[in-house]
Amino acid sequence: MHPNHDQIALAAYHRWQRRGHAHGWHSYDWLAAEQELIFALNYELIANYRLDGIAPRDLGDEDDPRCRFCEATPPRASFESPRLALPASLGNESLRSFEVCDDCHAAHAESIGTDLDRFVAAMKRGDLRDRSYDPVAAFKGLARAALAVVPEEEMQFFEDAIEWVSNPDHDLDSRSIGGMDCYLHALPDAWSFSWVAIARRLDDAEPFPYLLAFFGTGNLVFQVPLPLCVRDEDLETTWTVPRVPSSFGVGRGPIESRLVVVPLASAGTRMALVGR
Ligand SMILES: [Zn+2]
Repeated sequence: MHPNHDQIALAAYHRWQRRGHAHGWHSYDWLAAEQELIFALNYELIANYRLDGIAPRDLGDEDDPRCRFCEATPPRASFESPRLALPASLGNESLRSFEVCDDCHAAHAESIGTDLDRFVAAMKRGDLRDRSYDPVAAFKGLARAALAVVPEEEMQFFEDAIEWVSNPDHDLDSRSIGGMDCYLHALPDAWSFSWVAIARRLDDAEPFPYLLAFFGTGNLVFQVPLPLCVRDEDLETTWTVPRVPSSFGVGRGPIESRLVVVPLASAGTRMALVGR
């Protein structure tokens, strides 16, 4: 569902009020309000976790571990537990998991872990020209991090995504996947804690990705759609992704942010800057 003119006008007016009636932001507020409304009207939050500054929290069952990527259980798979559910580079210190077996963990760490870490580090430095990482592998790393925390009942729709994430060949298939942009939102102030959130589309008839993942750390929010979902089969190449800098679900979003679109579909065209 797309917001109508009156809804956008009202939301933009509220943004104007929040910034103390300052002028010069009309176009920015209009576009930001439209994006926030598209998200609010079409998505619901289905998972969110703080990643640091709190006591460790475990996903899964310590006494009955099961890998959410290969579905293996002991004794076929071993679980040296617990381990971080998301990489430390995304600010994770507290969220752990009993749902990743040792083999899957090792395979992911080797094939995509370093690339994700380098990508995140480059974005934290603001270095948009950094070439130290494979962009497809970095996108897989973000998708893998999202798949580590999506509710269990959603995993059935992502069998192809799981296979793709686990495939160490980063050239294969990359062009067959639409929508491999990472929206990088830079906020004026840093978060007081790191977090991850997953939002789900409300209506399958709408032209938006089924799941969106958000990772907040420092003053950045990394936003990606989860690729290769069976519930997106009809629209994957034509979807639009609402650009929202915050979806942790706590309070209002920031009044101001800067967006960098980081295309990760190939090592070719890398950067597009969208600012005020
Ligand atoms: Zn596994």
